[in-house]
Amino acid sequence: MEIFKKVFLFAVVTLFIAGCATQAPHFRLEPSLTSCIRNIDGFQYVPLTKLCDAYGINCNWDSFTKTACLKLGATNVALLGGSRNILVNGNAKKLDRPVVITDGTVFVPVSFVKSTIAPISSPVKAPTPMAAPIEEQKAFTIKTIVLDTGHGGKDAGAVGRGRGTKEKDVALQLAKKVKALLEDERIRVMMVRSDDTFIPLPKRADIANASAADLFVSIHINASFSRTTRGFECYYLSDATDDNARALEAFENSSLKLSGDADVQHSTRLDKTLWDMTLTENRKESGELAGLICQSVDENQLVKNNGVKTARFYVLKHTHIPSVLVETGYISNRIEEMKLRDPEFLNKMAEAIVRGILRYKKRYEATEGFTNV
Ligand SMILES: [Zn+2]
Repeated sequence: MEIFKKVFLFAVVTLFIAGCATQAPHFRLEPSLTSCIRNIDGFQYVPLTKLCDAYGINCNWDSFTKTACLKLGATNVALLGGSRNILVNGNAKKLDRPVVITDGTVFVPVSFVKSTIAPISSPVKAPTPMAAPIEEQKAFTIKTIVLDTGHGGKDAGAVGRGRGTKEKDVALQLAKKVKALLEDERIRVMMVRSDDTFIPLPKRADIANASAADLFVSIHINASFSRTTRGFECYYLSDATDDNARALEAFENSSLKLSGDADVQHSTRLDKTLWDMTLTENRKESGELAGLICQSVDENQLVKNNGVKTARFYVLKHTHIPSVLVETGYISNRIEEMKLRDPEFLNKMAEAIVRGILRYKKRYEATEGFTNV
């Protein structure tokens, strides 16, 4: 019995020592920050103003361009609302979570404090040993997707010649199916519209940038002057690939005319380097996502695959996260208009789009945010 007790005690002590040895030292936040941690989309954030107070950082926030310039001694950090991309003394870095602007307050991920601020600066008041350690979270993941259902309300989008089918109605049905399938995979979905409401294009981009979402997928139905044009296309932001893409770009952006002028102007004061970098980074990821969605639709042989294309759609241009726009068939073609009215076709289309997104998610998580292209 005595031996049994000793063996038991030895095992407990060994396990305790092993546990201590494998435990990584925890990063601790300054108490004034710990008390204002906000959970956004399952991740810990702190208000940028509180962070600057705690570390004595000189911060310039431009609410119009949604950029912040932080100065800590010789280090300059530039942040962009809605984006994961930052510049540290002009060098590009990628945050594991995006900067979020919500309820008029700018929030930065706690991981940003740990990875970027803490190594170069100490808080004005040192953290007390009592301060709660910050949990480690798997952050390079695809957790939330913004689904942007095209058009709505007074903006019908394209209208079929045969049966008068409206793009806004088909896009909404398809978006709801995509949403349900993504939620089955435990991905959170934010719908820009889930009923027949008109949402101006600038508002759509703002919703995406304030969401802390990982991807933006815009759902549209195509149309052409040529009744014989058919097929599926997936777009990401770059110069228009060809005349058709240019015409489509003009059509999809024409909804801006319905938005009123106030929101449409965007600043030229935006930190140009940060903006260019965000575009370049997001373009790589968007192109990869577009390719995987096209491949997946092609496997289902639902419609002719016209492949990945590029154009300067407003919503893609003004969204600071990887963004694609799918055009799921031509409503102007009699056969495809009939297909788009068929709920079973839309089910299969939704499955194909979601399969493409899931492949991207898997690849993104395996490479911790690095792209293969
Ligand atoms: Zn459209």
